[in-house]
Amino acid sequence: MRVLSVASECVPLVKTGGLADVAGALPAALAGQGVGMRVLLPGYPAVLGAQAKAPVLREIAELFGAPARIRRGALGKAVLYILDAPHLYDRQGGIYLGPDGRDWPDNPQRFAALCKAAALIAAEGAEGWRPQVLHLHDWQAGLTPVYLRQAGVRDVGTLLTIHNIAFQGLAPAHMLAQLQLPAHLFNPRGFEYWGRISALKAGIVFADKVSTVSPTYAEELMAPEYGMGMEGVLADRAGDFIGILNGIDLDAWKPPYATPEGKAPHRAALRDEFGLPDADGPLCVVVSRLTGQKGLDLLVEALPTLLDGGGQLAVLGSGDPGLEAAFSQAAARHPGLALRLGYDEPLSRRMMAGGDAILVPSRFEPCGLTQLYGLRFGTLPLVALTGGLADTVINASAAGLAAGVATGVQFHPVDARALSRALSRLCALWRQPAVWRRMMENAMAHPVGWDASARAYAQLFGTMIA
Ligand code: ADP
Repeated sequence: MRVLSVASECVPLVKTGGLADVAGALPAALAGQGVGMRVLLPGYPAVLGAQAKAPVLREIAELFGAPARIRRGALGKAVLYILDAPHLYDRQGGIYLGPDGRDWPDNPQRFAALCKAAALIAAEGAEGWRPQVLHLHDWQAGLTPVYLRQAGVRDVGTLLTIHNIAFQGLAPAHMLAQLQLPAHLFNPRGFEYWGRISALKAGIVFADKVSTVSPTYAEELMAPEYGMGMEGVLADRAGDFIGILNGIDLDAWKPPYATPEGKAPHRAALRDEFGLPDADGPLCVVVSRLTGQKGLDLLVEALPTLLDGGGQLAVLGSGDPGLEAAFSQAAARHPGLALRLGYDEPLSRRMMAGGDAILVPSRFEPCGLTQLYGLRFGTLPLVALTGGLADTVINASAAGLAAGVATGVQFHPVDARALSRALSRLCALWRQPAVWRRMMENAMAHPVGWDASARAYAQLFGTMIA
């Protein structure tokens, strides 16, 4: 099968979130499933800089204000197509945000251009290679099915994958002509969203299939509490909408020990590194963006329960200034809490290795990656019962423990009281070493790689090929 993945970010070249991890992992994960996946990315400085010799495959005379070209690069063993359009992508700042921290004003054109390029490759092929399916990631690729229709292409399937419903790709209605979109589809059954253009809605309505990154998030998205206004549109597509879990790279995330006992020296080293005293309680860790989505304000509230139960907490993260301040103040008051503000991947690995439990109290979580790292490292996840957290952790309920299958602790509803109770349960489990050890074994054996999900994507692509 020939599949072109259309993404606005992709590891190792450019990353702001989990989408980049998924886009970067899928080509290799799918290679064993009979899927030849190539990737199309915008030519940001970080991408072109790393692919200096990428030859030009095709010139585009005019693309939203200036000429552009498609270049051929490499992404590991996979072919990478780069949309080289300096007027859209060659600038200092973030890939979505300017130096002032606001969206680039021309983001609608910047990502409409990516969609146009994808439609062009689908229509004409590139160097004799023509995709049978386009795998479209988030709103940035959402307009592609509309441009495909305009180009009269009927024999290429489209899958839209939603990584986070909060980003909807909105543009004012007066940009319709500028974005070269057909006016007759600007209505509630098309890509109109409360008087504006929504690139995400275009993808949801016009892609052949829609997926998101966990089965539970798929269910949640069809309800108003989580759908952020798209619940009705998604419910209309229920027959074509599925959740496929993200996996992690098992080579990149490999614990430096093979059995639960191997954790001890890493735990001691982590206490040292964070300046935490020796203690007989679970050493908990958090590695996260500090935002409201992640529910960490609840953790600040519930913290005394953990500390009173003998537990400790090491936090690595950055983000919302109010949350950073709340954790700083709590760390000054409590010797059992230590904080590192910033983004530090090597430290996050040492935390996975040394921690006894990883806390993920998110209000919503499409899939979540850190609980998957936690499972692999025997760092038991304590998680909110939502989205991918619900799908990947087996709760230490009475039934879960009796059956000997538990891998972590889940709590619901997502509030400080329920989180407090969950922290008490965690401390109680810690005081039963045989039970804790069994949970670590279960966690470390839980499949968190791409195998099952790669098969699911391959099967889905297969249904789209005539
Ligand atoms: P989201 O994409 O919503 O931020 P995920 O759990 O899907 O949440 O992915 C977050 C990724 O970013 C994980 O790989 C996590 O380890 C990493 N990460 C988040 N914050 C930090 C940090 N401060 N330092 C290092 N890695 C971090």
